[in-house]
Amino acid sequence: MGSSEIKNFGILGYPVGHSMSPRIYRAAFDAAGFPNYNYVPLPTHAGKLYFAVEGLKGLDFRGANVTIPHKSTIMKFLDAVDADAMIIGAVNTVVNDGGILTGYNTDVYGFLAALAEANFLAEDCHAVILGAGGAARAVLWGLCKRRAECITIGARNPQKADALAKDFLNYGRVEGFDWHSDEFKEMVRTADIVINTTPLGMYPEVDDMPPIDLKLLPEGALVYDIIYNPAETKLLRTARAMGLPTLDGLSMLLLQGKEAYRLFTGELPDLDVMKAALEEGLNLR
Ligand code: NAP
Repeated sequence: MGSSEIKNFGILGYPVGHSMSPRIYRAAFDAAGFPNYNYVPLPTHAGKLYFAVEGLKGLDFRGANVTIPHKSTIMKFLDAVDADAMIIGAVNTVVNDGGILTGYNTDVYGFLAALAEANFLAEDCHAVILGAGGAARAVLWGLCKRRAECITIGARNPQKADALAKDFLNYGRVEGFDWHSDEFKEMVRTADIVINTTPLGMYPEVDDMPPIDLKLLPEGALVYDIIYNPAETKLLRTARAMGLPTLDGLSMLLLQGKEAYRLFTGELPDLDVMKAALEEGLNLR
């Protein structure tokens, strides 16, 4: 549609210098005919978050993305938080409607849309999640929303895996384990999908991978790594060499960005433009 109106957007986090978001959204705004939509990094120290959030109102920002370390702490400074973000306990997108700031979590949308694109039906599946941090919460909620039959969380810290499982007990059959335990290995044998939500294998530690024995997986189980840099992690390379289907984190990243763009503008972005901008940015690293 396009417009010559000026609108401002940004990404709140610390650090944010590495973020691909300014590059991706600027490319999408330009392609859609919004030359006066600005998107800037907003590096924000934890102790200044309240003032930064009020600043979004003061400076008439239309919206912001939110990244580490503010995804949870920002919630208390917002006027409203949507239901998905409330359950996940994290916000990655803020929209300013005339001074009313509403928080959303588009990671869950991106995760489910990426699964759908890969033709994976989460309904009735047995999913194994590796890791019990922030991204694991969005993934877990997505699987609960799709009514996965059983969700197994494996993490290096079994207390965290257990606590996360208990948080979602009302929404599905979820159990947490030490990922080195025999019980966990037994669960892996019946998984339809394994999702890595840890940073193990992320640039620059590209030779790392989570300690899962992929040989235990049934034939055809999908191995999904939500890391997007590199797109093919050691986990995915290993799975591919064993003939298992794989899915990388680029589509989740792009699709969560697509949903944030829709919340910001009311329109859908050109995903190919966003993808090209992301790939160009990652290649420059
Ligand atoms: P987080 O909240 O810090 O959680 C990380 C999880 O990984 C925690 O369970 C943590 O365990 C575990 N972990 C970290 N380092 C580990 C290690 N060396 N060995 C074993 N476990 C380790 O981080 P997050 O926000 O969930 O992000 C995790 C990953 O997801 C990152 O790579 C991020 O880029 C990716 N991500 C991708 C997308 C996408 O759109 N594709 C979206 C969101 C996140 P402890 O709790 O014991 O420390």
